[in-house]
Amino acid sequence: MVVLTERETCRPLPWLEAALQQALNGAHHSHALLVHGPSGTGSFGFALALAAAWLCEQPSADQTACGHCTSCRLLAARTHPDLHLIVPEALRAEAGLPVEAQDGEDVRKRKPSREIRVEQIRAALDFCTLTASRGRTKVVLIHPAEQINAIGANALLKTLEEPPAGVRFVFSCGASPESLLPTLRSRCQLQRLPLPDRALALAWLLDQGVKEGDVVLDASGGEPLRALAMVRSGLDGAAWRALPDRLARGDATALADWPLPVLIDALQKYCHDHMLHAIGCAPRYFSATALSQGGPPVRSALMALTRWAIELRELAQDAEHPWHAALSCEALVSHAQGVLREAGGSIHSRP
Ligand SMILES: [Zn+2]
Repeated sequence: MVVLTERETCRPLPWLEAALQQALNGAHHSHALLVHGPSGTGSFGFALALAAAWLCEQPSADQTACGHCTSCRLLAARTHPDLHLIVPEALRAEAGLPVEAQDGEDVRKRKPSREIRVEQIRAALDFCTLTASRGRTKVVLIHPAEQINAIGANALLKTLEEPPAGVRFVFSCGASPESLLPTLRSRCQLQRLPLPDRALALAWLLDQGVKEGDVVLDASGGEPLRALAMVRSGLDGAAWRALPDRLARGDATALADWPLPVLIDALQKYCHDHMLHAIGCAPRYFSATALSQGGPPVRSALMALTRWAIELRELAQDAEHPWHAALSCEALVSHAQGVLREAGGSIHSRP
């Protein structure tokens, strides 16, 4: 998640404007909205822009938040008394909240939780029973909704079924709303967020000072916030373009600084694209030129690539686990080189 600017708090990202209009027009029929879409497209910002619109004291003609009234300013500062924002401890800074738990403890001093705790849900339910401070409406925003456990979801059901007057809920989640408890999902109106229009996403990345936007946008699967986070973490377009050649040469030196989960993710994407190439399809994350360096598509390369994909998936499942510290970048790169040779080797052994 990328920290949003004040302007982005009240306005959705450019590729989400149409979806926001749709949500504002359709939300009259429901007091609970479930916003879902690929994680790097801005579902949290979208939920916040929706809350801003509902709470704004001088909404624009198109019903969106004005961005300058007292309510909009309070919301941008995350101090609006009628907005109850629930995120896991680990996402507090990115959501613009102070990095301390409710008891005042600085959560940076221990490993912050990635889950939404049931106590947070109970606090939101208490908030629902209070009178709105600024008199307009009250909003509970929960992100990411996938992190609500079964106990928390059950605690919410009754309030969602018979909500107190003037209270609205907005849940934001990733691309799979099916992962939510069906009883919770069925009480919400669903709003799907589209994958961004490419031209809008590239213009936005350029605005953020990102070079080679097309390369990093592809690398992130078309999700601009993910692309921006990737560049800010030091993985730019040049590093991404250089990856295929480095793997082919088994050169781990330049990749040694990449955090292990990032390297494993990049290898998974490279493996995925090689599989597409082997069956004659266009790649998704890398350029077609980078893929065709090994020669024309060869179906028999699929066996080695499939084995590699399974190994990488297992590694990715707990890439942040401490025992992975022993797993070296050199070993991953050397293994990648071996697989690519094996997959490429079949090219030369063809009759
Ligand atoms: Zn306003």
